[in-house]
Amino acid sequence: MTNLNPRQKEAVLYVDGPLLVLAGAGSGKTSVITRKIAYLIETCGIKAHHIAAVTFTNKAAREMKERVGKLVKGPASRGLTVSTFHNLGLNIIRREHKLLGFKPGFSIFDAQDAQALIRELMQKDQLEETDLVDFIQHTISNWKNDLLGPERALQQARNGNEELAARVYAHYNRHLRAYNAVDFDDLILIPTLLFQQRPDVLERWQRKIRYLLVDEYQDTNTSQYLMVKLLVGIRGGLTVVGDDDQSIYAWRGAKPENLGLLKKDFPSLKVVMLEQNYRSTSRILKAANQLIANNPHEFEKTLWSEMGFGDPLKVVFTRNEEAEADRIAADIIERRLNLRNHYRDYAVLYRGNHQARLIEMKLQTYQIPYKLSGGTSFFSRAEVKDIMAYLKVLINPDDDNAFLRIINLPRREIGPGTLEKLAVYANEREVSLFEASGQLELAQAMPARAQTKLYEFSTWLKQVHEHCHRGDPIDAVKQMIRDIDYETWTYQNCNSEIQGERRMANVWFLVESLQRTLERLQEDDPDAEIEDAVARLLLIDMLEQQEEDEDDDRVQLMTLHASKGLEFPHVYLMGMEEELLPHRNSIEDDFVEEERRLAYVGITRARKTLTMTLTRQRKQFGEVIDTVPSRFLDELPEEDLEWEGRDPGCEQANKARGRATLSSLKSLLK
Ligand code: ATP
Ligand code: MG
Repeated sequence: MTNLNPRQKEAVLYVDGPLLVLAGAGSGKTSVITRKIAYLIETCGIKAHHIAAVTFTNKAAREMKERVGKLVKGPASRGLTVSTFHNLGLNIIRREHKLLGFKPGFSIFDAQDAQALIRELMQKDQLEETDLVDFIQHTISNWKNDLLGPERALQQARNGNEELAARVYAHYNRHLRAYNAVDFDDLILIPTLLFQQRPDVLERWQRKIRYLLVDEYQDTNTSQYLMVKLLVGIRGGLTVVGDDDQSIYAWRGAKPENLGLLKKDFPSLKVVMLEQNYRSTSRILKAANQLIANNPHEFEKTLWSEMGFGDPLKVVFTRNEEAEADRIAADIIERRLNLRNHYRDYAVLYRGNHQARLIEMKLQTYQIPYKLSGGTSFFSRAEVKDIMAYLKVLINPDDDNAFLRIINLPRREIGPGTLEKLAVYANEREVSLFEASGQLELAQAMPARAQTKLYEFSTWLKQVHEHCHRGDPIDAVKQMIRDIDYETWTYQNCNSEIQGERRMANVWFLVESLQRTLERLQEDDPDAEIEDAVARLLLIDMLEQQEEDEDDDRVQLMTLHASKGLEFPHVYLMGMEEELLPHRNSIEDDFVEEERRLAYVGITRARKTLTMTLTRQRKQFGEVIDTVPSRFLDELPEEDLEWEGRDPGCEQANKARGRATLSSLKSLLK
């Protein structure tokens, strides 16, 4: 207990009833939970298997487990549950599967599986509103989080679309059952309903979990709240910690008002407020406090720190998103050399996953190791893989794997039977599938129609290859993408216009990267060809696929949502622009307060330095648009901000400076 402050100590020692720790970022809420687990085991003599701690992300659960592991050594911590809400629910369903009517080994549908099922059901029922798949999936999820079954959902439906969703919901649930499967939301919903319906089962679980601790409580939704309430029962072995200013999951059904509800449901609730922040410099904290003061507050909190005054917060204004990514990469190299610290001390945070693409590329270019958490990284997106496969075949026609990926993409009506015959033919002659496709003797091995299709395909690809070498290779690649009408294929295979646009933006981004890579290679070697550029991109792809745990010293890239609960010495917050942060949808729907909380979460991740970046122009769906600085920048204390590139006149100078720094650093690194 030595280094806990008096309030923290009070929260750790209080075990006589339910407790709420309500406090701002970095004040040691998670620390209270880990210390309390140790205290419960070592001093109160509660067996570890009677204690459960839950949080929201796997990463947070892992971190918490590690922290407890350092405090409680050896077998004493055996049987302790430290998990996400969903994992706890899964455990309950596993143990009770017989009662619930599941066969052992039931499967869990992730969001993609669920979406595929919904689509399939709609097609089967000849429902034509397939553009509503996303809406229906989201609505069903919300209903599940609110503990609404299909029947009540139908009664409460407010319009035709919701009625449709409710009908699909009923089908969907029946099918899940038939597949012996549950979806993600069921992991909470099913145990909660079970507890409500079967007091005997509930009692068994209450006997098992004698003490429950919940981190990030502000993000619980209705079903999670009820699960907690039921599990705790009247015994009140409960500690929850949270911060209403960090509630960022309203869109997933989270109800920050659950914090207030606690007092009603547990009249004996004790509340402890923590005020000292142990994470950030005073300047960072002041900025965070000033920003969040623009939101209405139910609970008044104060937050101060003794971590020193600190550096001003840097705001870097760049020309465009490429310069933004470049500046961040250069800054990381420079700082790391000056401060002699590690890559893992740096985090780059952004609002949306798509913002990661350019920074990923830049970090690769400068050989800065990085780790992208959450989201699909650029090279593992289906559309990027498709076009990469085309490029692979283009530079190496013997790449059979890539050939197989593209042969029917878009559909060329070359069936599995034909492909099998092609493979046998190619094997016998020891040639690649591509080469076999172009051989006229192939006509003897399969029906003429099939052979013609293969022959046409191979002739076309040869033409593209020639075009690459005779003319402008990038034009050839663009033409290739148009030839196959990849755009139509993409739009046909996604759920919404927006998703289609996003995918096509990724495709064109890949082409641009190829162009940039080629130009850069040609600067050093004028004879460099498209083959070299593709090979370079492939290498980036492979580097990215390296096992993430192989080397932990990496710059962390993640969304603001994924960064909750974490801390880093140096934080970069990208895209401080209107429509990015706050996000366009939130501006339209009047959810700016939640966006402000997101910005607050981002700022309060930083321990020593915070750098915010924004650009004058940004490409959006292929169009260059002028951007507007985020309103949140105006809400920060001007006297603590240090601007770079605010005056466009200085920009040239800054650019030159940046380039000079980079080239000297690069030569230093060699
Ligand atoms: P968040 O709101 O971001 O989840 P939090 O309130 O959970 O933050 P913690 O992550 O528990 O805060 O703590 C923030 C940092 O402060 C950690 O590095 C932790 O080790 C440190 N810390 C917490 N309490 C103390 C203390 N009494 N003395 C010194 N350091 C502390
Ligand atoms: Mg925390």
